Amino acid sequence: MEKRIVILGSTGSIGTQTLEIVDANPELKVVALAAGRNAVLMEKQIRKYMPEYAVMWDETAATDLKNRVADLQVEIRSGMDGLLFISTLEQYDILVTAIVGMIGIRPTIAALNKKKTIALANKETLVTAGHIIMPLSERMNAPIYPVDSEHSAIFQSLQGMPKNRIEKILLTASGGPFRGKKREELADIKVEDALKHPNWSMGRKITIDSATLVNKGLEMIEAKWLFGVEMDKVKVLIHPQSILHSAVQYVDGGIIGQMGVPDMKLPIQYALFYPDRLPMDTPRVDFTSLQSMTFEEPDEETFLGLPFAKKASATGGTMPTVFNAANEKAVALFLDRKIKFLEIYDLIQASMENHKAVQNPTVDEILAAEAETYEFIAGKLS
Ligand code: NDP
Repeated sequence: MEKRIVILGSTGSIGTQTLEIVDANPELKVVALAAGRNAVLMEKQIRKYMPEYAVMWDETAATDLKNRVADLQVEIRSGMDGLLFISTLEQYDILVTAIVGMIGIRPTIAALNKKKTIALANKETLVTAGHIIMPLSERMNAPIYPVDSEHSAIFQSLQGMPKNRIEKILLTASGGPFRGKKREELADIKVEDALKHPNWSMGRKITIDSATLVNKGLEMIEAKWLFGVEMDKVKVLIHPQSILHSAVQYVDGGIIGQMGVPDMKLPIQYALFYPDRLPMDTPRVDFTSLQSMTFEEPDEETFLGLPFAKKASATGGTMPTVFNAANEKAVALFLDRKIKFLEIYDLIQASMENHKAVQNPTVDEILAAEAETYEFIAGKLS
């Protein structure tokens, strides 16, 4: 049966891998694509997948793209209006949210209001607006299937199991490139070192988030919303080999997990074809040649991503937004070589300390907390 998809963030790491799944599965039809600025890659994608619509966030990139594809039927739009337009089209089934950052909140809400199924990679959306998005998904009977590999593993481990019998969610983490290092050793980390992830090839922002363990903190909050559990039931386990992608421990002590080689294509495909499992031509785990599978406690004194996430979630309201927004800004500054690695933590901490949380925030209040955080950081750096 044909499945029509819209991809937000098609030029990125998740977006391009989603298109590889499309290549392998002719029943997937691309209706619309959206990206930020990369008009060159978007042109290639349009010529190959022939969507009806394409959106560039950036106006100049949209104008450039219009000229590049003037010989085709595709309609080019831009900005938030463009994202909202393609997210609410009648003629599609699944929205893949593979944008990076909080920009995904409004399109996700708009798509849910149209009863669309969401394949969600954009975790920042749930971290900041989970209290709006999850009840809306339920009310609209519009499911959200996780694309994040850990959450996909948890989702797979929940199939056929009673949800009220979860004792713990075991959220695995590779530990990133600096696992085992102490705070002093992180002072002079270079951007290139932080971008070298041991197991996963991902976009730049999430790769830095993996090095700080902020990604795992965001994932704890994402898991809380997706699976309706309290944060203290989400236990992070460092598992450097990234073979067990996460697991669920039930009240009888039984643990059901999902394993595989580290490859995002499986979780993306699972979200697109759930509940089916389609053949996929990726490497298999060879248990006999695996040297070991090890597990350790996270070092929360060095890698502050987890304690910040727990604090943000415990305070609730707009605090997870401030945690996320301060991190987005700090990571961008680090990637631009304007601040040092450990200053990412300093900026998150200062922003959270400065903020008075608003409980049960609306989307406007969430976006106001984001803007306030950016202003606060700009003020600190000037
Ligand atoms: P990338 O940086 O590789 O890609 C981001 C995509 O979003 C690009 O297509 C980019 O377009 C687009 N984009 C950025 N800003 C805008 C905007 N304002 N409007 C429209 N499009 C925009 O990110 P990833 O693919 O790594 O990550 C995407 C999301 O998935 C993140 O939330 C991340 O946390 C999550 N995720 C990623 C994983 C991975 O393996 N990469 C694993 C699990 C989750 P352009 O390049 O044209 O500017």
